Amino acid sequence: MRLMVQKYGGTSVANLECMQKVREKVLHVLDRGFKVVVVLSAMSGETNRLIEMAGKWSKRPDPCEMDVLLATGEQVSVSLFTILLKELGIKARSVLGFQIPIQTDKSFGKARILDIDAEKIKATLNRHDVLVVAGFQGCDCEQRITTLGRGGSDTSAVALAAALDAELCEIYTDVEGVYTTDPNICPQARKLKRIAYEEMLEMASMGAKVLQIRSVEFAKKYNVPVHVRSTFCDQPGTLVVQEDKSMESAMVSGVAYDKDQARITLVDVYDEPGVAAMIFEPIARANIVVDMIVQNPSRGGKTDMTFTVPRGNLEETLNILKKIKEQIGASALLYDADVAKVSVIGVGMRNHSGVAAIAFSALKNENINIMIISTSEIKISCLIEEKYTELAVRTLHEAFGLDQESSAKKC
Ligand code: ADP
Ligand code: ASP
Ligand code: MG
Repeated sequence: MRLMVQKYGGTSVANLECMQKVREKVLHVLDRGFKVVVVLSAMSGETNRLIEMAGKWSKRPDPCEMDVLLATGEQVSVSLFTILLKELGIKARSVLGFQIPIQTDKSFGKARILDIDAEKIKATLNRHDVLVVAGFQGCDCEQRITTLGRGGSDTSAVALAAALDAELCEIYTDVEGVYTTDPNICPQARKLKRIAYEEMLEMASMGAKVLQIRSVEFAKKYNVPVHVRSTFCDQPGTLVVQEDKSMESAMVSGVAYDKDQARITLVDVYDEPGVAAMIFEPIARANIVVDMIVQNPSRGGKTDMTFTVPRGNLEETLNILKKIKEQIGASALLYDADVAKVSVIGVGMRNHSGVAAIAFSALKNENINIMIISTSEIKISCLIEEKYTELAVRTLHEAFGLDQESSAKKC
């Protein structure tokens, strides 16, 4: 049995007209002799609408009930789309996460997939040509509904492709592929024919929401070829694949940004063994992901500790820190929610020098101040004022010549 997994995002299933386009794409693959697992997101705007609604009822809605609520978005999409397929006599059925089941841990709102019952899906596929699976959702060991975090349908699709050993996993969205940066804020962005898993992982981690981070982790781990492409045209998109030598010729392959950032500074904490652990252990226990961390050099046994957390976790993090502030000697707890992170990414950084200097002088030329810098082997990130995000992205994109086909800018 030849098997293809196709995932369609929110804008691809936004209304009847869009769903008819999706149906044409599915029919095309059936004609080529494949059976298809179609993974759908909620209709565009629906997940936000549900979150907003719950927010009016409660400041901190119960996370388990939030997942029950949010999973309804995908349930609507899969039922409507299956009705549409059946209109043409196609042997199709819809399936929800808990019916498969897609087994996850208990981290409501950002659950991780632990297991997928592939045999059960294959058995269902013996009786159907198309299985329409609700993305973004699974269930824990007590059959409670869980969701996989924003953008989680990408992960549902790649995880299903890995579990079923599908020939290909296609991610259909509202842009033609993975670009050198977000084409919606930089018109000069260029579509990449191929991108290495590792680069895509950094791009996604640094904020490029075209693929959810965990979907790329799955693809890399299980070597699933992923094709990111548009629902609204037939052009080939971008293949996310294993790295090869040719990819290293470009110094930088993309620029990403993330506005979901908040900066916190603990002023004058004791510069002693154990203080960092006292700060970050309770934050980790609250399941909050800390990103950039900077500790200043010691001044008379005291230092400042600055770090970033997702903006939505700012209040909770501040509450945690208020409880330990005196114990660690901090004279003040400062924060700033109007910050953003811009990053340049490329496997070519491993063997090109001077990338940081180009990035910093490009930002300087636009008078953009850098608050924190962090680096890895294949990325450089700068925390800046949020209002300069778009300008910084366009400036960095230009500085590295990313609008040109051969962007192997030499130092
Ligand atoms: P879907 O609803 O189909 O899952 P998303 O909105 O989650 O779509 O992801 C697609 C969006 O990702 C694009 O509309 C684009 O604005 C954004 N994006 C950010 N960075 C990139 C990039 N490097 N290449 C392509 N799209 C990007
Ligand atoms: N509907 C969810 C969201 O909006 C999951 C997804 O679209 O991938 O984040
Ligand atoms: Mg998405």
